[in-house]
Amino acid sequence: MYLIDGIDKTVQEELQNLYQLQEIDRKVYNLTKQRADIPNQLNKMQEALQELRGRVGLVEDQVAGANQEAKGIEGVLDAERHKVRKWEQRLNEIRNQREYLALSREIESLKRANTDSEEKILELMKSAEEFTVQAETLKEELTTHTVELEEEQVRVEGALKETDSTIESESARRDDILPKISKPLLKKYDFIRSRRMGVGLALVKEGQCTACNMRLPPQLYNILQSGSRIDQCPSCQRIMLWEKFLEQSEEIAPVSGVSTESDGNPETEASV
Ligand SMILES: [Zn+2]
Repeated sequence: MYLIDGIDKTVQEELQNLYQLQEIDRKVYNLTKQRADIPNQLNKMQEALQELRGRVGLVEDQVAGANQEAKGIEGVLDAERHKVRKWEQRLNEIRNQREYLALSREIESLKRANTDSEEKILELMKSAEEFTVQAETLKEELTTHTVELEEEQVRVEGALKETDSTIESESARRDDILPKISKPLLKKYDFIRSRRMGVGLALVKEGQCTACNMRLPPQLYNILQSGSRIDQCPSCQRIMLWEKFLEQSEEIAPVSGVSTESDGNPETEASV
């Protein structure tokens, strides 16, 4: 369709092959980047779960603390109640009025202190109960989160496996294309893509590099259209392929099994 005099077939074939390689490399590059993000959600969930475990621990400590404090007061209270009983017995034996009154007052004050202690124990028991309820709620949350985390773990494992298997099959396709490209061109391509976000070859559309959007000098564009040699973009240094040559090669020689469209677009099945 777009036959132009002076096209170097070998140059163009090599560029087509390099383009196929580029498509695979682009896909693998993106997949590798996406792969790194797959466990992000899982990592967040693990952090949240860890934090929740910490909160459960704190609340349980508060339950234990309140119970222990209540137990301590209980111990003292037992001794104080015993004292009250002893003093009341002694009161019966006192005949002296002044001594009697003094001891009575002591007993009353001791009883009041004991009542305070009883109230304090009730308060502590109440807060222990409240903390227990809180701990139970948090533990329920913990269970839910643990289940969600396990589900996410399964999802992540599946997604990683799927990505790895796609990368693997793309790498196998890459290995098939490699022998079709000359070593110096491949070396140059690898060098460029290692420095240019994984893209070593750029299509040129309407006089413009599609990778960096630079408009080519008319003379260089003419040379590119002549198809006689391999050139690099003056701005981004990527190896250039004029889009018309790509369309041409797809129309003339659809490569079976190695579609440039990885999603199997039926439109690429052009007839000769
Ligand atoms: Zn460019």
